[in-house]
Amino acid sequence: MTRAVIFILWALLGAVSTASAQSFTALARLEASESRITTQGGAFQIDLSLSQGVPYRVYTLTEPARLVLDFREVDFSGVDAKSLILNENPKTLRFGAVRPGWSRLVLDLPRPQVVSQAGLRVDESSGAAVLSVALKLTDPEEFKRRSGAPSDPVWDKLRPSVSPTVSSSDDKALTIVLDPGHGGIDPGAVSAGITEADLMFVLAQEVRDALLRSGDVNVVLTRQGDEFVSLERRVKIARAAEADLFVSFHADALASGKANGATVYTLSEEASDAASAALAERHNRADLLAGVDLSGQDDEIAAILMDLARLENKPRSEALARGIILGINTEVGHTYKRPIQSAGFSVLKAPDIPSVLIEVGFLSSKDDLTKLTDPIWRMKMVVGIHNGIQAWLLNDAADAQFRRK
Ligand SMILES: [Zn+2]
Repeated sequence: MTRAVIFILWALLGAVSTASAQSFTALARLEASESRITTQGGAFQIDLSLSQGVPYRVYTLTEPARLVLDFREVDFSGVDAKSLILNENPKTLRFGAVRPGWSRLVLDLPRPQVVSQAGLRVDESSGAAVLSVALKLTDPEEFKRRSGAPSDPVWDKLRPSVSPTVSSSDDKALTIVLDPGHGGIDPGAVSAGITEADLMFVLAQEVRDALLRSGDVNVVLTRQGDEFVSLERRVKIARAAEADLFVSFHADALASGKANGATVYTLSEEASDAASAALAERHNRADLLAGVDLSGQDDEIAAILMDLARLENKPRSEALARGIILGINTEVGHTYKRPIQSAGFSVLKAPDIPSVLIEVGFLSSKDDLTKLTDPIWRMKMVVGIHNGIQAWLLNDAADAQFRRK
């Protein structure tokens, strides 16, 4: 089967500069009331109104004949097929999330037709976008010839969490993966109605924006909203993004004691003490919740290679932890009494990526809860983490010449 007519637009990249406030939000929404799917003489015309521009691609498939529109980051929730499609059976239309950050719209084609035109118009002032796809009738032979799932390295590589606001074209820029802990069915710690998942998502976005403002880095979040992402998947996202470093954000509750202040963890094979072990266990449980068994994961890859990579990365992760703690201490003036620790967190297990997990505080501490929910205080924490990461990037680049013999 030959290549479909494919339109892949990264048009939003042009719109980002004019709508930057808008572009830092997560999902684009489909504005159902301003969207229409109509037919003219049996050929479909699709006009979708989106709250912001997103990358998309469109192609047709055979058996059964259908049109597929893939989007990154479109929220279809609350949209009714009946309100979108006019003059046709609403059952011919299906849409929804296919995996975190990716959505798909499928339209059955009762008569053979191919894409004749597709385009995304982004309003420069509002950032809102209209995606239009026009089809034209054709004969079954041409339909078959022009249909088929496209193979495109950019999409096949599955970088679902690359924010559409971040250009992935600059290969030289470093890629920082930020991992807001928990999400979806796993809220993490909960205190006074505030969930760790929500707080960490806010914080990770703030750190992302701070890093983007200081330039020349790509930043990828492992989740785009309140959604469940398995620990294994978070590591996979970092690998797919070819992360140069990985930072996970947590603020757990401790059952006992009056712990407060930030702690930065690196990976240890054996949890460094009982408290660390309990914490690691709690994080890992998130995966059991979704029925994902992590235990066999490491066997797939040659253990020796992983160990070698870890050996090289261990001091780099430790330096990153020290840099972040120094940054936090400088800005916030306080950390946990033992600010650098190690534990067996699954999310730190990418052997080839320097990785740390920051417990920015403890939701069980009233003091920490007050601070973490205060945007002014949080900004100090954000600046501290940002400065720590930036300092590490400079030092690590300087060290790299010695690593590469
Ligand atoms: Zn947590």
